[in-house]
Amino acid sequence: MNTAKTRNTRRVLAGINFTGLDRIYQQLDSELGMILTFHHVHPHPIPKFAPNAHLTVHPQFLETVIRLLLRRKIDIISLDEACMRIESDEPPGRRFAVFTFDDGYQDTLVHAVPILKKYDLPYTVYLAPGLIEGTADLWWEAIERVVRQQDRLMIQIPGMGMGPTELDCSNLLQKADTFQFLLDYLTNEVSEEDQRQVVRELCWIYKIDVDALMKSEIMNWQQVESLRADPNCTIGAHTLKHRALARLDLAEARDEVISGAAVLEAQTGQRPQHFAYPYGYRKAAGHRDFELLASLGFKTAVTTRGGMIFPSHREHLSALPRISVNGLYQKLRYFSPFISGLPTRLSTGMRRLDVS
Ligand SMILES: [Zn+2]
Repeated sequence: MNTAKTRNTRRVLAGINFTGLDRIYQQLDSELGMILTFHHVHPHPIPKFAPNAHLTVHPQFLETVIRLLLRRKIDIISLDEACMRIESDEPPGRRFAVFTFDDGYQDTLVHAVPILKKYDLPYTVYLAPGLIEGTADLWWEAIERVVRQQDRLMIQIPGMGMGPTELDCSNLLQKADTFQFLLDYLTNEVSEEDQRQVVRELCWIYKIDVDALMKSEIMNWQQVESLRADPNCTIGAHTLKHRALARLDLAEARDEVISGAAVLEAQTGQRPQHFAYPYGYRKAAGHRDFELLASLGFKTAVTTRGGMIFPSHREHLSALPRISVNGLYQKLRYFSPFISGLPTRLSTGMRRLDVS
């Protein structure tokens, strides 16, 4: 579903690309490179109602991105090497790009890794053991399925009067509103602890098998082993149960990070050196969490806040921004401006660092 906002953004990006503003801007700025974020990579058709469509790109588009970066003479490197370049006192040479894949979807292994292997490129996959072992849920995908399949939902929402609230899902616009309402409710009104139960109840009532969804979407430990055996792959940590750290108290947040990394170490034999904040936006990971991650000895921690990597990020290695390879903008003319850094600079009011 293309909203007016998506259509406008596409127009702006295509305009930047057409005029060449991005390439002029790039010559003036001093960024070192970028860390790209991917979630799903698969060729399956996207349904009409697909509020998570921004999280999916076609394998061909992944290859298009690789070719664009190589054409622009951007080095595609590992997170370890990026870290060395950020910390280096040498004058920056060629710009770099790092490929990161969140959550450990099976399609990373099936569709993305073969393309990365074809070009012999390094990449990072961030894993949350709770998603692998079924103690956490892909709740945003489960909710999408509930809303897609139903014409209306009845849900008991505390503070919204007596009895259940009826949510209209009778057409695409109503479905989008209801999905957004549930997303806001589950990420703002319900605690991280209770979120799972609310989602599970809703899925039970409307016959969405969350466990089957998880098994079909997320890698098992055997598949993780094949990642571990790939010298081009860095396995990064993503908490134990994919919880938004900023919504936990400090002791809980610390435990989420430490336990998640410990399980990964026990399974792979290697302690993860890199971390991605689940969700990664401002309300999900804040300054306290950046300090926590820095204190726990990880080399880097990445958010989902948009931005390029500058030399000054050496002071903020636990709050690195990324560039999302967004499923809504899968055309070269939309994506190409992003590798100049101009769109993210425009959206952050021309600030380079966003570490608050
Ligand atoms: Zn995630």
